[in-house]
Amino acid sequence: MKQFDYDLFVIGAGSGGVRASRIARGFGASVAIAENHRIGGTCVIRGCVPKKLLVYAAHFAEDFEDARGFGWTLDGKTFSWPALIDAKNREIERLSKVYAGLLANSGVDVFLGAARLVDAHTVAVGERELTARYLLVATGAWPHKPAIPGIEHAITSNEAFELETLPRRVLVVGGGYVAVEFAGIFRGLGSEVTLSYRGPQILRGFDDDVRRHLHDEMGKKGTRILLNSNVVRIDRGSDGALEVAVSGAPGGKYGCDAVLYATGRVPNTGQLGLAAAGVELDEEGGVIVDEYGQSSVPSIFAVGDVTNRIALTPVAIREGTAVATTLFGGTRIPADHDNVPSAVFSQPPVGTVGLTEAQAVAKFGEVEVYVTAFKPLRHTLSGRDERTLVKLMVEPVEQRVLGCHMVGADAPEIIQGIAIAVKAGLTKAQFDATIGIHPTAAEEFVTLRDKKVVQGVEKSAPRFV
Ligand code: NDP
Repeated sequence: MKQFDYDLFVIGAGSGGVRASRIARGFGASVAIAENHRIGGTCVIRGCVPKKLLVYAAHFAEDFEDARGFGWTLDGKTFSWPALIDAKNREIERLSKVYAGLLANSGVDVFLGAARLVDAHTVAVGERELTARYLLVATGAWPHKPAIPGIEHAITSNEAFELETLPRRVLVVGGGYVAVEFAGIFRGLGSEVTLSYRGPQILRGFDDDVRRHLHDEMGKKGTRILLNSNVVRIDRGSDGALEVAVSGAPGGKYGCDAVLYATGRVPNTGQLGLAAAGVELDEEGGVIVDEYGQSSVPSIFAVGDVTNRIALTPVAIREGTAVATTLFGGTRIPADHDNVPSAVFSQPPVGTVGLTEAQAVAKFGEVEVYVTAFKPLRHTLSGRDERTLVKLMVEPVEQRVLGCHMVGADAPEIIQGIAIAVKAGLTKAQFDATIGIHPTAAEEFVTLRDKKVVQGVEKSAPRFV
């Protein structure tokens, strides 16, 4: 039998690659991993973790304001962006070392440098060539900026994490996760924020009530949202400030100090030599894999964002576990992409699991919809005009809960718990049989009574005031 240097060679030490490596080692496989940036990948170094730290920082501004309604006086508060970025960088450094330690302790050989495929079993890292029975591509994705005049003046989330100063005026382009999250961060920290989105409403693909509700709440906090608008060019003036020409309604020129493009991410496959090795890629360069993560070349697998499926860290981790178990654990485990909960760490945040109303109606023809928008208890004294949205969809025959959506404080924490019930296929009656915890926003999910039956296409107007 052919001898290989390793049983598994992983390219990319992010969430999916690190998890697959460690699980494979646990099954006794010999494993190596290559990384060309820092150990930890997008989530740890320039994604979920630093983003959430910045979200916390931004929210303090509101917390201080709200405290007044509860009798507090807070004078002389100041904010230092460099201090925040330093603190964030220290935590990221610590976490990257933790990841490196996990790999070392589990006996995974680490190669620092850019890896590229030589053939179906061989990887080159710098001058070295290494062979493995299986290769796993876990190289993630990278921000994509469209080619418009002056795009070189725009930053992406990668650079936003490293800005030396807090921009006074920011124009964010895009209407997805990264766009609304960074709009909330900069707005919370005091920047003037304009968000330009090409479509009719932010967060395409999310439930329409969620989209409208978040749009309204972001507007109340002072973010200017331009819908159906496109950035056509960016110019830098002699004073260093940027001028952004936007078409659509309302079009015009917007002065700002930073333009942040959050227009999606593309799979990191450009320099890997995958196509030459016979690996089929989709039109964006994503590795096409089956439910077991196997590509068109039987010895080459892929997990995480590079597969262009669901670009979420916990999904990549699950896919990494599944591939390692399938290859070395004696059990074939497919990736499970059903009822994946997710959150948008906007201000206020969104939590969601299961079908949107439009998806539910398309699938079942008719759904029972429960939706409420209310003022949370905290804001009775804070005086803040912020409402929480809670929505639940039920399939009419078996009464299974198909989807739960929330916009409001702690929505991601709450929906994580609710997701267990949706994944388990529980019914509305089982939700209702659960006693609420009072007073919380989460208790709404077990006390919703006002039902609306929706048939055919989803209504375009909100059903609540
Ligand atoms: P998204 O795909 O979520 O959003 C991209 C946005 O940019 C969309 O609004 C899209 O518009 C718009 N867009 C795309 N191309 C252009 C263009 N050429 N000109 C103008 N606008 C354009 O990407 P993100 O970068 O926000 O996030 C990438 C992925 O990372 C997400 O899908 C998510 O899976 C993951 N992520 C998860 C987070 C979380 O879990 N909290 C946080 C951040 C990222 P349109 O809708 O019309 O296509």
